[in-house]
Amino acid sequence: MKQNQEKKRVVILGGGFAGVSASLALSEYIGDNPEYEIVLIDRHDYHLYHAALYEAATTEHRQIAARKVKKTVTIPLGDIFRKRSVKVFKAFVEKVDLGNGQIMTDSRVVYFDYLLIALGSIADFYGIPGLDKYGFTLKSLEDAVMIRNRIEDIISKKDSGQIIIGGGGFAGVEFAGELRNLIKHECKAHGKKPENFKIMIVEGAINYLPGLSEKVSKLVAARLAGLGIEGRFSTLLTHAEKDFLTLNNKEQVACDLLIWTGGVRSCRLPVLEDLERDKKDRTAATEFLNLKKFPNVFVAGDDACILDPQTKKPLPQTAQEAIHQGRHAAKNIYRLVQGRPLLPYHSGPVRFVIPVSGKYAILYTPNLIIHGLFGWLIRKTADLRYFLSVLPFFTALRYWLFENEIFMKND
Ligand SMILES: Cc1cc2nc3c(=O)[nH]c(=O)nc-3n(C[C@H](O)[C@H](O)[C@H](O)COP(=O)(O)OP(=O)(O)OC[C@H]3O[C@@H](n4cnc5c(N)ncnc54)[C@H](O)[C@@H]3O)c2cc1C
Repeated sequence: MKQNQEKKRVVILGGGFAGVSASLALSEYIGDNPEYEIVLIDRHDYHLYHAALYEAATTEHRQIAARKVKKTVTIPLGDIFRKRSVKVFKAFVEKVDLGNGQIMTDSRVVYFDYLLIALGSIADFYGIPGLDKYGFTLKSLEDAVMIRNRIEDIISKKDSGQIIIGGGGFAGVEFAGELRNLIKHECKAHGKKPENFKIMIVEGAINYLPGLSEKVSKLVAARLAGLGIEGRFSTLLTHAEKDFLTLNNKEQVACDLLIWTGGVRSCRLPVLEDLERDKKDRTAATEFLNLKKFPNVFVAGDDACILDPQTKKPLPQTAQEAIHQGRHAAKNIYRLVQGRPLLPYHSGPVRFVIPVSGKYAILYTPNLIIHGLFGWLIRKTADLRYFLSVLPFFTALRYWLFENEIFMKND
């Protein structure tokens, strides 16, 4: 199967939250053991820190060049794995043949003995006509740069306008809050009135952040309303055109820019074999995070459908879950290598910190909710903790300080 390959190879597809945490954990377990090789494949040579994308998309041109924006939300994979026994291979994964242990990339075929698939998700447009054509997504560095360019373009050319955000989940509310500040700065630079540029969030549920907690939804609603952001609840987009959107009550609303954060689905990596998938195209995993038909193949993160043992519903697609699942998959791959029994997965603690404009954030745990400046400080600490978990101390500190210096200019 793997001609001329002396070492056993563990391949991780995707250098996102799940893939990076798994690779770091595996490099701890396997260390410098010459019998094994760890290879991480990603189409980019960097790890994208999604949690700060809303900040990157609302940085002002005159303050920060696009080159600098990249540095605020990405960490080179080379920096993460500098002193680790992980080989990073930049390539686009085109197809996987699980039976023969082969990964077809745009540059060469890579063989594996053990595999972790963690390729994340893409925006879900739910087949709404015009949405994929006229809606901007907020999923990548390029998206963030395009959005800030478009906002500058609108404000420089028009005296009034409306920006609509489809989806009142984390990405939607975090972006909307910070957008208000960007509009203020751009209007000042172009001699326009900020109150003439409206922001509307269209949400299908009865409030923001559905499924979290009523108290958090109310805090978010009050904060956004205070910033003059209109929320339309129990409302669906049914059609998008270049300059307007149609809602499910048949109303047509003017729209200069539509940002779609309303849902994600699996990126559906082409795999030669037929795999069990859910309605979001996520690959069904066993309780050990591997595949029933291919026990040497594991899945984690947004791309995986892992059922909560209590509710029997799929676990949420969040960075925290992805990190936790990545680490667990690494542990089980190592146990498989050693011939030991696999351990069932239990999801991590529920803890969210939701920044909503400037130095204000809401910390949510099932037992505690804190909001305001203290919430924001907790969020900053959480960012630093994440950087410290993937980078050496001083490098992590440097990234964190740089991110803060740039993003605070927008507050
Ligand atoms: C704007 C925004 C804000 C968010 N904020 C939060 C937050 O505050 N807290 C939270 O918990 N969650 C947040 N999330 C959700 C979180 O980012 C995702 O759940 C998380 O990224 C999933 O991790 P992952 O490893 O599965 O995928 P990703 O982190 O997306 O990584 C997937 C990797 O696979 C690579 N890849 C994909 N396809 C290919 C291919 N064919 N070939 C090669 N490489 C490929 C990509 O380049 C990427 O590096 C946010 C999401 C967004 C979009």
